[in-house]
Amino acid sequence: MIDFHCHLDLYPNALDLLPQVARQNVFTLVVSTSPRAWLATSRVFAGYPNIKVALGLHPEIAVVKASEQDLLVSLVGQAEFIGEIGLDGSPRFKQSMALQRRILDAVLAECERVGGRTMSLHSRGAVDQVLDALEAQPKAGTPVLHWFSGTKKQLRRAVDQGAWFSVGPSMVASEKGRQLVAEMPATKVLLETDGPFATKADGTPWFPWETDRVTQTMCDLWGTSLDHVRAQLLSNFKAITPTLSISG
Ligand SMILES: [Zn+2]
Repeated sequence: MIDFHCHLDLYPNALDLLPQVARQNVFTLVVSTSPRAWLATSRVFAGYPNIKVALGLHPEIAVVKASEQDLLVSLVGQAEFIGEIGLDGSPRFKQSMALQRRILDAVLAECERVGGRTMSLHSRGAVDQVLDALEAQPKAGTPVLHWFSGTKKQLRRAVDQGAWFSVGPSMVASEKGRQLVAEMPATKVLLETDGPFATKADGTPWFPWETDRVTQTMCDLWGTSLDHVRAQLLSNFKAITPTLSISG
């Protein structure tokens, strides 16, 4: 399995899970919520070549972490992956949108300056604003829109701008999510869990190796076999990480 967006550091028993995730998954991208968290988690998670920690500043905590913006920008050059970054325009967070946008623009500009990065982006309630920001920094790298929840029109705009998508079991649990996945180009889709934030119906978190439900749903939506979907997802992963070495 591949999990291209999870918060492994935030599970209560993260250190116990670490060896199991490394063993069961081909690759896991652990997104961080602040640059200080990235520094700490990168140290603790070192030694697992198929688990990478992405540098981020989650838009939901932009207000409390605003003082870490300079640190975030200064670390971009050393980070292989960027995330979780983005914008949140939902009622709870939209009052900090100007600050969120300033942080996002600063990160994208630095990504562009260092030659581009693969970035895992949050865009809840703010798809057009995230796409505007990406359009303004076209060489920032490859955007992966995680748990995309916009309209079909916004999906087409994202595809036209070269965006990728990471899709998890909670997303395909809803009819709207399944309709969006059906419209995504199969060559631009990756798997994610967004655990421990994303949970099963009983409230327990998805674990990074539990993305089988998504592959099964993709078979139905795309009208192809399970083997074909798995091969496609693996080839997508290789295409987006051409320089990644996870052997050893
Ligand atoms: Zn997340």
